[in-house]
Amino acid sequence: MVIFKSQQPPIDLPTDLTDWDWLFDSPYSPIKKYPSSPLAGFQNAITKERVDWADVKRYSTYISTALVKNYGLQEGQTISLFSQNTVWYPVAMFAGLRVGAKISGASPAYNAEEMTFALKTADAKFLMTTPASIQVAKESAEAAGLPKSNVILLEGELEGYTTLKQLIDMGKQHGESSQTPSFKLPTGKTSKDVCGFLSFSSGTTGLPKAVMISHQNVIAQCLQIQQITLETQKKIMAVLPLFHITGLVHQMHLPILLNAEVVMLPQFTMEGMLKIIVEYKLSELLMVPPILIRMVRDPLVDEFDLSHVTRFSSGAAPLSEEIIQLLQKKFPHTGFKQGYGMTESCSCITAHPPSKFEYKYAHSGGAIVASTEVKIIKEDGSEADVGEQGEVLARGPQIVMGYLNNEKATRETFDEGGWLHTGDQGMVDEEGMIYITDRIKELIKVKGIGVAPAELEDLLLGHVKVEDVAVMGVQDDYSGELPKAFVKLKDGVSADSSVARELIAWVKEKKVRHKWVREVEFVDEIPKSASGKILRRVLRDKQKSGEGRG
Ligand code: AMP
Repeated sequence: MVIFKSQQPPIDLPTDLTDWDWLFDSPYSPIKKYPSSPLAGFQNAITKERVDWADVKRYSTYISTALVKNYGLQEGQTISLFSQNTVWYPVAMFAGLRVGAKISGASPAYNAEEMTFALKTADAKFLMTTPASIQVAKESAEAAGLPKSNVILLEGELEGYTTLKQLIDMGKQHGESSQTPSFKLPTGKTSKDVCGFLSFSSGTTGLPKAVMISHQNVIAQCLQIQQITLETQKKIMAVLPLFHITGLVHQMHLPILLNAEVVMLPQFTMEGMLKIIVEYKLSELLMVPPILIRMVRDPLVDEFDLSHVTRFSSGAAPLSEEIIQLLQKKFPHTGFKQGYGMTESCSCITAHPPSKFEYKYAHSGGAIVASTEVKIIKEDGSEADVGEQGEVLARGPQIVMGYLNNEKATRETFDEGGWLHTGDQGMVDEEGMIYITDRIKELIKVKGIGVAPAELEDLLLGHVKVEDVAVMGVQDDYSGELPKAFVKLKDGVSADSSVARELIAWVKEKKVRHKWVREVEFVDEIPKSASGKILRRVLRDKQKSGEGRG
């Protein structure tokens, strides 16, 4: 048996604490751990609005009390957070968690149809949003059967909607001694058995699914990453979306454990990000490959003095050799690290330890994090040894519970031995560093965000001119990858560019921007296996050889 084990000391994982109690009411809490030092907090880099950890604790107590006592929120119900980055996002998230609700993050770019799907799939009972997203929130809440009273504004005001500030006031009115107590784990259960979050991922195949993330998954991941984070890491830039697993762990939980200030950018722009890097003297920059690409290519970067930056940190998608080289050349005074993982591993399976914060190791996804094991399965089903490639499997306390209401996908992805089948191809070298070399699964990563080919295939199959279709990702300099559709047209429809444009426009009309199809190629037949499964590898090879470009 070739099992690659972590070289880090195992984490000391508490199993009897919920996420909220752990961060706000246990010896791990910065509020208890650093009673005499100033508490860090979440800060909006533009408006300067700020809440420290004690505020988060206090506000989340009032809000959760109001949700339970005035709005009837029950343990196990789901609250959907549909918002761009704001300091009120984590406040609302911790409020829900405090009373045993599940939190489900959704992309603020979703349209009403996508948001309805998210609400229904996560079985959400409450929807928290901002005025900017209210139209979509309203339509999707109606479609999913949520009453208007359960649509709450995280910030701002709008006639007829309850705001988070009003919930704080309502909670206060119950009096300090009548606050709803924080949720405790049911008898006989550990934090591993209780779901705290529902995040969306399409996994290795099919449509997006709600990934059940336990309280313990998040606690374990934070402890695993804390172990390899330098003590000097006192400010964390939050430009990645909070709804994604990277935001959930690295921008909302870990900073509290580290007592590190979170500098949030509500809406990403290159200029906005560069300004806050300079203003806050941010030294370690958590980014995704599409932003790193701009760091080396966008002339705007040269207008800013970034000499204080010590390290770039990348994750969520592959980063090309070329960009790594350009980055080192342009910022020779910096180090580099990466994390590799997926929503189903609650972020990282591997990450660079401080001894490897060098460009020499930049192509690697990092070393196996504490208390985690990795297996590489070769194409013939046997286990790979050092340096051999195959599918990456991972086991550890951060591997999630499964998919909500989807046993089939759960069984396919998480095997009986506790191994997560990642659908990524990689290898582990003699130093214990992982290298992700390819993707076996269907997923397309556009600007670091996952797009499920099945979702676009379903949509295009609904078009009157389409007989059959397969969607896959193609390389793009700016976005990393973009969806491309191989289309077999119905008999009698001529394969001309106006039909291609029509199909591209059809997707644009119905899906959020990062799902837009960049290119359509007409084919005579979609290659399929005897069981009717699309042979994506055949299409990929065709694409790579440049055969059918046009
Ligand atoms: P998500 O669930 O959206 O985080 O997507 C997870 C997928 O993104 C992984 O299964 C990989 O295919 C890809 N991914 C994440 N991190 C990396 C990385 N450091 N290098 C290469 N691919 C990555």
